[in-house]
Amino acid sequence: MCGIFGVFSHPEAANLTYLGLHALQHRGQESAGIVSSDGEEYYSHIQMGHVVDIFKKEILEKLKGHMAIGHVRYSTTGSSLLQNAQPFLVNYFRGYLAIAHNGNLVNYETLKEELEKEGSIFQSTMDSEVIVHLIAKSNSNSIIERIKEALYQVKGAYSLIFLTENKLIAARDPYGFRPLVLGKIKDGYVVSSETCAFDLIEAEFIREINPGEILIIDREGIYSDRIPSDKPRNSFCIFEHIYFARPDSIVFGKNVYLLRKNLGKILAQESPVDADLVVPVPDSGIPAAIGYSEESGIPFELGLIRNHYIGRTFIEPKQSIRHFGVKLKLNALKDVLKNKKIVLIDDSIVRGTTSRKIVKMLKAAGAKEVHMRISSPSTNYPCFYGIDTPTRRELIASSHTVDEIRKYITADSLYYLSLDGLKKAVKEDKNCYCYACFDGDYPVKFPKILKKLELTIF
Ligand code: AMP
Repeated sequence: MCGIFGVFSHPEAANLTYLGLHALQHRGQESAGIVSSDGEEYYSHIQMGHVVDIFKKEILEKLKGHMAIGHVRYSTTGSSLLQNAQPFLVNYFRGYLAIAHNGNLVNYETLKEELEKEGSIFQSTMDSEVIVHLIAKSNSNSIIERIKEALYQVKGAYSLIFLTENKLIAARDPYGFRPLVLGKIKDGYVVSSETCAFDLIEAEFIREINPGEILIIDREGIYSDRIPSDKPRNSFCIFEHIYFARPDSIVFGKNVYLLRKNLGKILAQESPVDADLVVPVPDSGIPAAIGYSEESGIPFELGLIRNHYIGRTFIEPKQSIRHFGVKLKLNALKDVLKNKKIVLIDDSIVRGTTSRKIVKMLKAAGAKEVHMRISSPSTNYPCFYGIDTPTRRELIASSHTVDEIRKYITADSLYYLSLDGLKKAVKEDKNCYCYACFDGDYPVKFPKILKKLELTIF
């Protein structure tokens, strides 16, 4: 998963992009980059690591110009290497072009193979690079036409920001898998994966970039074009609401925090528990746990305290220190949990390893019973559109019943929110979300997807 941000027409474009990326850090922690321009020269700094560690004052001072785009990366295709970090900046025969991409292209390998046969030389293993090659290959004289031609050929999920000599161009795939929003700051414009970045820089949120829209911002103003496609149904990623986006963002027109709280309320209606306390797995389970507590009347308590300052650990844990990894991140509050019946709330179970460690931790701290409640349906299928979920084989729910998972995580009971309950929470009346991770109904079908699923099911 990734976060993208762009600024057009602001004297402090790179500084604003830095702040924007800082607000989007949750969308990717492997690498971060900014490309800026004054319309003549391009300036770029891309590095592995976190935004605050990378962009020191001296570096930001070098990123001149009134336009900039930025990217934070969590790799879903291509390895975690500097050559795969973005924005991807090229100088081809028509000039400079920089691109920042969030999402996954499902026909990347086929397109790459075709392009390589025709002589293209790839610099990275990122799917986003095919878009640049397709743009460069196009015979059209207009950059917008070249982008349209390229995007007509790629399939899958993409929210994109391009920077040319005189334009900032934002585009969202015709299904609208990933979010992308437009804001205004003084005389300039900003584009971001999420609205939380606008709050930080005090930009005004104008609207979402629509699915299939290409939004062009230049000296003339702002205007829209469309990616040629046979207008598919909207397929907004439901996991953005459940887990990925920041709770203080408005995503797909909905306040993420309030929506997550509502998931917790519906969860309490669907699966009540006779318990003493509602405890969230921090941070991901907090809004749903508040909702569960409000609906059930069972008091909310922070039974687990999270340490937010963990980086990589260099000490190898001794055999005697069990569950070292999760203990670095979370600590159980014995005085709160002792002899209590707990409803433990998290947003999802992926492999099941975290839940197992946390349930054991609560029991070791004296909890009498631990009833796990998950504010989404069971994650049965991998995502091919940009969420980093493992293969089917590694997803515990794809090969185990709810009771088998309950036994594995050592909980006294386990319940997942129903798909209908989820649809009720997002007021799904227009059929506009992608639920493929829950129901396996992939909106963009592609032979590689089907092949990968076949291989991993058995
Ligand atoms: P697991 O041990 O694999 O079951 O991890 C479950 C935890 O991972 C939950 O607390 C989720 O909030 C979190 N989670 C869910 N999806 C993702 C994801 N794509 N990347 C990282 N963490 C995730």
